[in-house]
Amino acid sequence: MSGNIIDQCVAQGVPFARDYGGLLDNRSFGGVLVSRTFYAKGQTGQQLLLGAYAAMNRQIARGKITMHNRHEMLDVVKVDGKARGIIARNLITGEIERHSAHAVVIATGGYGNVYFLSTNAMGSNATAAWKIHKKGAFFANPCYTQIHPTCIPRSGDYQSKLTLMSESLRNDGRIWVPKNMEDVMAIREGRKKPTDLSEEERDYYLERRYPAFGNLVPRDVASRAAKERCDAGYGVNATGEAVYLDFKTAINRYGTEQALLHGDHNPSAAKIIKLGEQVIEEKYGNLFQMYEKIVDENPYKTPMMIYPATHYTMGGVWVDYNLMTTVDGLYCIGEANFSDHGANRLGASALMQGLADGYFVLPYTIGDYLSDDIRTGEIATDSAEFDQAEKEVKERLDFFINNKGTHSVDYFHKRLGKVMWDKVGMARNEKQLKEAIVEIKEIRDEFWKNVKVPGSLNAFNQELEKAGRVADFLELGELFAKDALNRNESCGGHFREESVELDGPQKGEAKRNDKDYAYVAAWEYKGEPSEAVLHKEELEFKDIELKTRSYK
Ligand SMILES: Cc1cc2nc3c(=O)[nH]c(=O)nc-3n(C[C@H](O)[C@H](O)[C@H](O)COP(=O)(O)OP(=O)(O)OC[C@H]3O[C@@H](n4cnc5c(N)ncnc54)[C@H](O)[C@@H]3O)c2cc1C
Repeated sequence: MSGNIIDQCVAQGVPFARDYGGLLDNRSFGGVLVSRTFYAKGQTGQQLLLGAYAAMNRQIARGKITMHNRHEMLDVVKVDGKARGIIARNLITGEIERHSAHAVVIATGGYGNVYFLSTNAMGSNATAAWKIHKKGAFFANPCYTQIHPTCIPRSGDYQSKLTLMSESLRNDGRIWVPKNMEDVMAIREGRKKPTDLSEEERDYYLERRYPAFGNLVPRDVASRAAKERCDAGYGVNATGEAVYLDFKTAINRYGTEQALLHGDHNPSAAKIIKLGEQVIEEKYGNLFQMYEKIVDENPYKTPMMIYPATHYTMGGVWVDYNLMTTVDGLYCIGEANFSDHGANRLGASALMQGLADGYFVLPYTIGDYLSDDIRTGEIATDSAEFDQAEKEVKERLDFFINNKGTHSVDYFHKRLGKVMWDKVGMARNEKQLKEAIVEIKEIRDEFWKNVKVPGSLNAFNQELEKAGRVADFLELGELFAKDALNRNESCGGHFREESVELDGPQKGEAKRNDKDYAYVAAWEYKGEPSEAVLHKEELEFKDIELKTRSYK
């Protein structure tokens, strides 16, 4: 299907990179040893989004799609067990609206912002997914989270967003920390610069630990390795949470090659650097410029600093092969559902999945479902079910405005994020997961007593929007930790400290337990996250063998 997806996107005008002969070009990415990823400079995701958006605008102009900008879906409405509409809030006027339909599709993205800080957009949230979970849709594998290794490190406590540096940078950048603690301290105290360190004084720890994949190990492996070095004290910035991503070798390699291509067989060092930097600028110029704007350091001259950050959620609403949830007529696509990636998502595959779901699966499967409704007629919005759903939505919004508590929404969100990052983050263990479950519940109880939402109900009010979203994150976070506790094995983005290879060539690496955990954990809502019931969907491998990959 991937060939069809690329063709679809090219037809929509996505400017994929091309080779000299005009054919689509490929490059390598984390987790693979071959070049098989289509790309558009360092902005593939953005370009795909623009292509899809432009195609949608065309249909809006033709009257085939009615766009409801700046509306938030706050609940799904079920009639006779089938999804028949939604309750939405107009974010500009505050008006609550009823929308009916023969089927409902949720495409509202992932829940990475449960960690407060992530690479996701500030408005990314789990409300729609969580609301349908509460109305009967199972939630699968919430603990599978991707922590991306290549993000700009946190600068301090008063930060609301993290920035991703594209994974494409690992194609040419080499990741390292100083070998010696004295150098770490000297760099932190400003007595030395990273460029002062010789090759022998650097620990290219991914190349050392994973000679086969080197800097292109999958994201989870690269992230844990950075954490391991920083936990051991080798982090290179003030917070101790940063490693270097260095382009010096690539600049020299490309510069030498370019000089030869220009017929210069004895180029000066300065010429090699100049030519090499030009190649790097062509490939990653936009990313280097973004880094310099944020960090105020020139990454052509000094290595970038990076650290892992929450980026993507492989878990989500459970769906069948038709992308239907456990509620009839309720579909879920894209990052919001759990499908396709399993415990680990490799580079580029998120957009592949989103495009496959939206362009190649759902158009066929939803038609099949709708064929039974061909004579149903319009679904009324004045039914008892719509009344009830709207009443619940309004009561909750009223509560937030009238609560007059003492702390802002962000105060609770930050506290939740800290528990999630410290105890349900890159490495998890039984003790901390149990603590997290208790602490998240405490934060949630306090939230409902003490949250303060300024402004009014019937107006643009971002604090009010956030309040509802954080209330949902506070429930989802607990289920997330419960799922991580249940899965007593390491598996892709979920790393349990108790489940590690103790000897042999994989010593120290994540250890899966396929005998006991080769299943999708699909949770059914029963009133409180602590009471959620686990349904196991066994994983059957017929055409391929289930085995553990080695990146060494
Ligand atoms: C910085 C960054 C770079 C990335 N780069 C790549 C890449 O190069 N390749 C790749 O494959 N993947 C990449 N990803 C991942 C990929 O972009 C996402 O997984 C993908 O965009 C998810 O698409 P989606 O349509 O499912 O959800 P989203 O793109 O998150 O869209 C969800 C939409 O739903 C809206 N929404 C949310 N809740 C509600 C609600 N209650 N009511 C109404 N609307 C709602 C949101 O505002 C948003 O517009 C990247 C992600 C990030 C954050």
